Amino acid sequence: MEIPKKMRAAVLYDFNDYRIVERDVPSPGPDEVLVKIDACGICGTDVKVITQGMPNMGPMGEFIIGHEYAGTIIAKGDTVDEFDIGNRVVVEIHKGCGRCRNCIMGQYTACLNYGDTSKGHRANGLTTNGGFAQYAVNHVNTLYNLPDHITFDESITITTAGTCLYGIDMAGGYIPGDNVLIIGPGPIGLMSTQLAKALGAGKVILSGTRDERLELGKKLGADYIINVKKENLNDRVKELTDGLGADLVLEAAGGKESLQQALENVRKGGRIVILAFYKDKVCADISLAVKFGVNIYTVRGEGNMSVGRALSLMSQGRITGKPLLTHYFPLDKLHEAFKTFVERTDGAMKVVIHPQE
Ligand SMILES: [Zn+2]
Ligand SMILES: [Zn+2]
Repeated sequence: MEIPKKMRAAVLYDFNDYRIVERDVPSPGPDEVLVKIDACGICGTDVKVITQGMPNMGPMGEFIIGHEYAGTIIAKGDTVDEFDIGNRVVVEIHKGCGRCRNCIMGQYTACLNYGDTSKGHRANGLTTNGGFAQYAVNHVNTLYNLPDHITFDESITITTAGTCLYGIDMAGGYIPGDNVLIIGPGPIGLMSTQLAKALGAGKVILSGTRDERLELGKKLGADYIINVKKENLNDRVKELTDGLGADLVLEAAGGKESLQQALENVRKGGRIVILAFYKDKVCADISLAVKFGVNIYTVRGEGNMSVGRALSLMSQGRITGKPLLTHYFPLDKLHEAFKTFVERTDGAMKVVIHPQE
């Protein structure tokens, strides 16, 4: 296949100023491939990148945004024998340096050389060039072959699933029979709902404020949904868990009250996983955790190859990304796409960009 010299890409020029411009198509290094991008999803983190930036982000006027993407390999470096030209792949964001203590132990999303490209670290769309472009280079460590029956569009939800799975993993991983409370029915909460079910949880309880999303959660496997605007969360959770509280709480809302809700609804000795980022500092009664031996876990992104494992679950039909996809735009309409995502126009959840259109 002929590789073009130029491409269209979304470049960040300043905070809140990104433009669709022409750029050179990048060349893969020895351990990298060139991906022709077919789909790239918009995620809340992209909004943070655009409005506030990221530590160690590429320079303004050069940095290409977008981190949840999939496409076809069209060129590869000399040492790459893990993948072939023509392979359909989905990417994960983080390629650790591979030489720091955390990377060696598998925690490459918390790499100690985060953002240092001279040491081999890359996080496409966060520190290095990303996927709101027609082409991107990816290190082999960040690629997973897509089974034929998973579309590019659906596959962009796999980072979300990988993050949820990594969170469950870090909190012990083994949840058969456990009652799980998921706070927040956004993409992370809805993926967590499916994963809890797929991993054999007891009762899966999903809470939130939007009926439409809660109803979707029910279709995706939640045994019980609680609209906290209409019902008392604590009373309902007690009722559903024989007065004990949830064995595991997945905090996927990142709201002002949600950590407090987690603390009040977890079983004594239970576990809380914080999957969301908070907009501001939050105030919560952490003594509740200390008093009752509750452990709180956090994860950064999708470590421990959890993207690959989530992809396996998707391939087996145990989780699906399809119901999360709501809107599609070509790259030239990226601004409209972001507006749709941020304002949640027409129930927008996962908004997908098609850079080749
Ligand atoms: Zn993301
Ligand atoms: Zn590292």
